[in-house]
Amino acid sequence: MRIGQGYDLHRLEAGYPLILGGLTIPHDKGMAGHSDADVLSHAITDALLGAVALGNIGQLFPDTDPQYKGADSLVLLKEAYRQVREDAGYCVVNIDCTVIAQQPKLNPHIEAIRKKLAETLDISVQDISVKAKTNEGVGPEGREEAISVHAVALLQTVIPY
Ligand code: MG
Repeated sequence: MRIGQGYDLHRLEAGYPLILGGLTIPHDKGMAGHSDADVLSHAITDALLGAVALGNIGQLFPDTDPQYKGADSLVLLKEAYRQVREDAGYCVVNIDCTVIAQQPKLNPHIEAIRKKLAETLDISVQDISVKAKTNEGVGPEGREEAISVHAVALLQTVIPY
């Protein structure tokens, strides 16, 4: 077994879509970034890579590389997990995430986000937890200047058939 931790934060700004776990969430502000700025998928990607010491999302998919401009972060997550499985030989036991966002309220979207992430990773919905909380109005998340995510992933060796 191995454990990995991932963290990411993106700025919330007008004129961008808000995409979390591949789901576009209706809101008057969205996440600024080089890719689609899916802060949740980025944190999960880093947790998976961290568990097997394969570096981080920025090393795998550099934001200086024009091919990743506006990239679908679920595609990046899927590719990172392919490397975790095929190169390192580990697969997911479970993933747990906390999304820190003052607005919008995310609870109505949590099940759809879990389903999308489970499909992307080809794991059970039971094995991916996504929790949302506010930041009590303080800090960049509390002032609605940013959304951040903490993620942990537990992996086990791929059991040979
Ligand atoms: Mg990011």
